[in-house]
Amino acid sequence: MRSIVLGGAGFIGSHLVDRLLERGDEVVAVDNLLTGRRDSAERHRGHPRFTFLDHDICEPLPLQGPAGTVFNLASPASPLDYARLPLETLDVGSRGTRNALELARRTGATLLHASTSEVYGDPLEHPQREDYFGNVNPVGPRACYDEAKRFAEALITSYARVHGLSVRLARIFNTYGPRMRSDDGRVVPAFVSQALRGEDFTVFGDGTQTRSFCYVDDLVAGLLALLERGDARPVNLGNPHEMTLIELAETTRRVVGKGGRIRSVRPLPENDPKQRRPDITRARTLLGWEPKIDLEEGLKPTVAWFRRELGL
Ligand code: NAD
Ligand code: UDP
Repeated sequence: MRSIVLGGAGFIGSHLVDRLLERGDEVVAVDNLLTGRRDSAERHRGHPRFTFLDHDICEPLPLQGPAGTVFNLASPASPLDYARLPLETLDVGSRGTRNALELARRTGATLLHASTSEVYGDPLEHPQREDYFGNVNPVGPRACYDEAKRFAEALITSYARVHGLSVRLARIFNTYGPRMRSDDGRVVPAFVSQALRGEDFTVFGDGTQTRSFCYVDDLVAGLLALLERGDARPVNLGNPHEMTLIELAETTRRVVGKGGRIRSVRPLPENDPKQRRPDITRARTLLGWEPKIDLEEGLKPTVAWFRRELGL
């Protein structure tokens, strides 16, 4: 079985590559290292079933031969990254996704696409079910990401209808774990790095906004369950345990064993969702999947990773 992972040097992509190699797949990871890590790209250098291709998927993909699955995870994903790369984010969601679809069609593969809870925007329905259409500002600071992901869902669904392609849409909620970049701006890397350095936790807004954090191993298991047992309609993948940012900081401080004050350092960024929790009924019933790893358990290997990363 040959699997092609677009965005294979990214945080989730690199864990997915590990699982696919473990189960015996031949894996081609494609990445231009826009927000990924070179060490992730080179982790499996010399492995007989692994190839890395340094390529921007906004250009047609030079891969031939059959494949079982094209996983499309290529896209800046952190609010800090997509704020500095808005045009690249829109390009990879549109032209990049089109090239991923063409590749899947040419190789006879199923396309599994990494969509996001951001398609729900700052949601007015809570928790979020897949049939909620969302509340997205098309000209706000998050629009480049949210609208690229919404466009990609529309493109993939239309392509599947027109060409009969087999597709999967994973709406991924906040996921964390080892191999995130300490400077990517997302809240788990930020809080864990701050705790390890004994610094204050930088809370945006008053910290009462909520998120639901999924450990990366659970998420990758969800992606593979979606591939095996899913259908063409979107499925939420995430951990339904919702908490405030203040609770996240407190849990991080407990797991790390140190950390400064929990301090509001700036107002809530524009259009920052005030609440987010996946309704995973569809994933439970269709895929038989739910997360198994709670936050304290998942933070332990994450903290160990950042301790090494930061040389602490
Ligand atoms: P990441 O930034 O670590 O990984 C994305 C990878 O895509 C990077 O290696 C980057 O270099 C690569 N990439 C970007 N543009 C590219 C291009 N034009 N050509 C080739 N490669 C390109 O982010 P991640 O957290 O691993 O996210 C992976 C996917 O999952 C993304 O599509 C993201 O939108 C989605 N997602 C992630 C989360 C999360 O919480 N981590 C939540 C929702 C959705
Ligand atoms: N956040 C924070 N401090 C930080 C980074 C983020 O309070 O140092 C907040 C951010 O405003 C948001 C939440 O944490 O409310 C999650 O942010 P993240 O960037 O991880 O992902 P998002 O869910 O917003 O895409």
